[in-house]
Amino acid sequence: MFNTTAELEELLMQRSLSDTQLQAAASASADYRILPDATVIKIGGQSVIDRGRSAVYPLVDEIVAARKAHKLLIGTGAGTRARHLYSIAAGLNLPAGVLSQLGASVADQNAAMLGQLLAKHGISAVDGAGLSAVPLYLAEVNAVVFSGMPPYGLWMPPPANGVIPPYRTDAGCFLLAEQFGCQAMIYVKDENGLYTGNPKTTKHVSFIPKISVDEMKAKGLQDSILEFPVLDLLKTAKHIPQVQIINGLVPGNLTRALAGEHVGTIITAS
Ligand code: ADP
Ligand code: MG
Repeated sequence: MFNTTAELEELLMQRSLSDTQLQAAASASADYRILPDATVIKIGGQSVIDRGRSAVYPLVDEIVAARKAHKLLIGTGAGTRARHLYSIAAGLNLPAGVLSQLGASVADQNAAMLGQLLAKHGISAVDGAGLSAVPLYLAEVNAVVFSGMPPYGLWMPPPANGVIPPYRTDAGCFLLAEQFGCQAMIYVKDENGLYTGNPKTTKHVSFIPKISVDEMKAKGLQDSILEFPVLDLLKTAKHIPQVQIINGLVPGNLTRALAGEHVGTIITAS
């Protein structure tokens, strides 16, 4: 065990930064939660915002009521406009980093719209969720809206195959929850949660209320309701041991999930 700063510093100066002993020393100190009382909620792009008023207005009402009791970091998905952009850009043989920038602009558009709807309640959209002003917004009005795409931009790690950016808004919201050491991560989408197959395209699917990452992979569901890299991010997370996926088209679900109720599907790291 290396417990003193001096020992760690000595290792840092001498070893490769990926040295096992060095990494053990660096992780020996207790993890610090930056925003332990906040919950990240992701409002789906294709699944929610693209449906327009019928889906978005009731959620806005729920958010406005819920923030009296909860601190909310509200991230936005991208959705159909991003898929359209990806199809054009991929057809032009452009790389993942460029597609990532294009997708981010759509998540930005959704954050801008949600921000305007929440404006009269004093809730603002911010330009970057890592901004220093976020804690202030949370302290003052208990909520803030951010664009869910992680800001890799041109530096998006390229996928093994194709050019679709692997880390999109599900991953962006998860990483924010994990880095800030938040209390929970809730995905608001348009299905009751995870099923044995895509309920939009498959008949006779059954609902899965709770599942671990390994079980999900064993069932071949790694690329289903969440972007696949989120499962690996969840497995190695220090602060976020599980995520919850709820149907935001059912009024009250978000409120119940925030209250700690098991609505929808819970995916656990182990
Ligand atoms: P978002 O709007 O947050 O990006 P997506 O549309 O990407 O959400 O993901 C939600 C969709 O995932 C659902 O509408 C559903 O059609 C699809 N899906 C695919 N496989 C599954 C599954 N096994 N269980 C539930 N939903 C699934
Ligand atoms: Mg999606």
